[in-house]
Amino acid sequence: MAVFRDVMPAFDLLQPTSAADAQRLLSDIGEGAWVMAGGLDSFDWLKDRIKKPDVLVDLSGIDELRGVRVNSDGLEIGAMTTLTDIANHPEVKKSYSLLSDAVSVVASPQIRNQGTLGGNISQDVRCWYYRGGWPCYRAGGNICYADTPVGRNREHAIFGANLCVAVHPSDSVPALIALDAKFVVKGAKGDRTIDAQDFFIGPEYDITRINVLQVGDLLTAIRIPNTYAGGKFYFEKVRDRNVWDFPLMNVASAMKLDGGNISDIRIAVNAVSPRPMRLTEVEAAVKGKPATAETGEMAGKLAVEGAVPLQFNAYKIPLMRNLVKRAIGGVQEATWA
Ligand SMILES: Cc1cc2nc3c(=O)[nH]c(=O)nc-3n(C[C@H](O)[C@H](O)[C@H](O)COP(=O)(O)OP(=O)(O)OC[C@H]3O[C@@H](n4cnc5c(N)ncnc54)[C@H](O)[C@@H]3O)c2cc1C
Ligand code: SF4
Repeated sequence: MAVFRDVMPAFDLLQPTSAADAQRLLSDIGEGAWVMAGGLDSFDWLKDRIKKPDVLVDLSGIDELRGVRVNSDGLEIGAMTTLTDIANHPEVKKSYSLLSDAVSVVASPQIRNQGTLGGNISQDVRCWYYRGGWPCYRAGGNICYADTPVGRNREHAIFGANLCVAVHPSDSVPALIALDAKFVVKGAKGDRTIDAQDFFIGPEYDITRINVLQVGDLLTAIRIPNTYAGGKFYFEKVRDRNVWDFPLMNVASAMKLDGGNISDIRIAVNAVSPRPMRLTEVEAAVKGKPATAETGEMAGKLAVEGAVPLQFNAYKIPLMRNLVKRAIGGVQEATWA
């Protein structure tokens, strides 16, 4: 399919200086508006002429959306804070290193310098058929090009397939789910707060959307409670190249230990399903058990129950089993070895 990459489609550029103004503009313009944060994902769509918004609402002039604020409840991170600023922030590194570890391995230094946390959370799936402008289900068509006997689906889903088998590609999101983050959304009716794991939607709910944001909504901040501050964390990303690459899979766990036993845990995996997966059954199964390789082994097996591989991604099942195992047993080795 021919894709014209020479000239971006024309659009109006609006540059509000407050979150309230940005939200009002988004509501007033409606469907034709596009939120632009760091522009990394946005410009891909525009340059490929696949998305053609009438108006770009550029958030880069809104200072109130930038920065990491430490408070008595934990952290509040403005949606326009760059991934580099989060990776380098002393309090994030000291008490919430799960997040600094996760954002430090996003893409490349250049992308982390420009890319924002709000943009990383809100980015769309990377399936190359969809990104290449093919009229698949997610693009409003009536076929999935990836889920055929010859479709290129090595990077695609082993869970949650429902017409679409693309995966959610973010590295920051599993860490945010494990840390029990809340996303603050400013909409026409005011602000609302959404649990990180409830922010994302699967194709069974709406195949053309990746999250709960509606026309007129703006993600303004990410709040991380101090529940797991200074806890035992594990983040691991597996990718084809060590820089500039999306995850083939990643895992994030936040744990509290009591005498060597897991008293509380949250664990999430991404790039296995159209929406990031919090592994609640694994959490329940390991609570009260020692954080050992043996418990990790049991957790890994449980995590992959029900996985359905496509033609070219069966490797994701042992990969997920081992990542989950290490996210539990690996913490133990790092702590008491
Ligand atoms: C070559 C390359 C490699 C990459 N590798 C990785 C990787 O390894 N791991 C990873 O996690 N990511 C990776 N990314 C994704 C990259 O991190 C994201 O593209 C980036 O984080 C998007 O952030 P941005 O600030 O540029 O947002 P934009 O591109 O401006 O926006 C992204 C999307 O989010 C929406 N959006 C942005 N902010 C808001 C907001 N506040 N409220 C509502 N909607 C909003 C936009 O409308 C758009 O749809 C890669 C990207 C590229 C180009
Ligand atoms: S996996 Fe989803 S995004 Fe990719 S071709 Fe199929 S329907 Fe489209």
